[in-house]
Amino acid sequence: MNTYDEIEIPYGSPMYIMAKPVGAHCNLQCHYCYYLEKSDLCNTPAPYMSDKTLELFIEQYIKSQATPEVMFIWHGGEPLLRPISFYERALALQQRYADGRRVYNCIQTNATLINERWCEFFHRHNILVGVSIDGPQHLHNVEILRPRSSDRA
Ligand code: SF4
Repeated sequence: MNTYDEIEIPYGSPMYIMAKPVGAHCNLQCHYCYYLEKSDLCNTPAPYMSDKTLELFIEQYIKSQATPEVMFIWHGGEPLLRPISFYERALALQQRYADGRRVYNCIQTNATLINERWCEFFHRHNILVGVSIDGPQHLHNVEILRPRSSDRA
């Protein structure tokens, strides 16, 4: 068992968890998507991550890390279905529980919901953005069965 300051930590190296704050919700429906069907595991529509779960996750995830740097990975479904205010709350909680550690964030998105406000937010907080694309527009859009937006590419 390693220690970081006075905290007992059961893992010897970073342990990465992909947080899914929207569960299996997405504004697209790619025919190959491995994740949307996970909503079938619930008898009711899977809820978004609650404020209580968000805080518990952030506190426990930071405490579980054996390194002075902590990486949060926000994943989907489509994580930008949550508003910017959700991520502002997450960043504030990270600072509350960071206990001197440096915290980084990255987000994986289909990019269809990105606008100027999101760009400004990502830039201001130095958030790494990963974009999933399948190729040029004419190839990319045929992968989507029922897009809620007219173009994905
Ligand atoms: S954009 Fe990603 S999460 Fe959304 S349906 Fe396509 S593969 Fe699934």
